[in-house]
Amino acid sequence: MIRCVLFDLDGTLVHFEYDDFLNEYFRAVTNTVAPLIEPRRFTGALVAATEAMIRDLNPSRLNSQVFVDDFFKRVNVSEDVLMPVFEEFYMTEFTKLRNVLGVQPHPKAREILAFLLHEGYDVVIATNAVFPLEAIEERMRWGGIAELPYNLITCYDTMHFCKPNLEYYEETLRIVGHEPEECLMVGNNVDEDIIAGALGLKTYLVEDFLLDSGANKCAPDFRSDFSELAEFVLSGKVQTL
Ligand SMILES: [Mg+2]
Repeated sequence: MIRCVLFDLDGTLVHFEYDDFLNEYFRAVTNTVAPLIEPRRFTGALVAATEAMIRDLNPSRLNSQVFVDDFFKRVNVSEDVLMPVFEEFYMTEFTKLRNVLGVQPHPKAREILAFLLHEGYDVVIATNAVFPLEAIEERMRWGGIAELPYNLITCYDTMHFCKPNLEYYEETLRIVGHEPEECLMVGNNVDEDIIAGALGLKTYLVEDFLLDSGANKCAPDFRSDFSELAEFVLSGKVQTL
């Protein structure tokens, strides 16, 4: 019986092309720090530190620690100077990406989350834990799904692993106290989201913004566009799994 539903955020609950988002995010953050760090050096450090964070499987180091340690080895600006600039960025320039990308809430997104919470399911925002919480909550506002009583929002300040590592899902389930077979993972990325099936979670692939490198042979238990997912949830199908 399913007791917990985990949702990916980008391209699943919040509707935009992830590549477009990354391009605009990189452009905006690079401009913001340009007075302090030469743009090519900055983007190189950002990519390398993000990759280091995604690869790292040390259970005693938070994702944010791995990122910061790797990043500041690559740039000649101190953490004390740059971290407040990043924090300011997420409260100002980052919020403008919503209009740049033209993100509109899906009319059913909030409804299915509120429905599941009302029905007593635990609900997790299982977005890849590579961003600070503020940047995740901002994207949740873009999708009209902020400020619901979620059990967990995975972010880089609190998690020790990233997708597509199964350790990310093991840690997430440990925090919310569920066994894999009690969980349904909903996402648009075969490599990062549907991989959860390898641990025993049920999986639902949302195909509106489908991402699939072809590397992961895990087949989803269910697949459809977002509107059909909404029907699936609102007609009580999760109770029958
Ligand atoms: Mg996604």
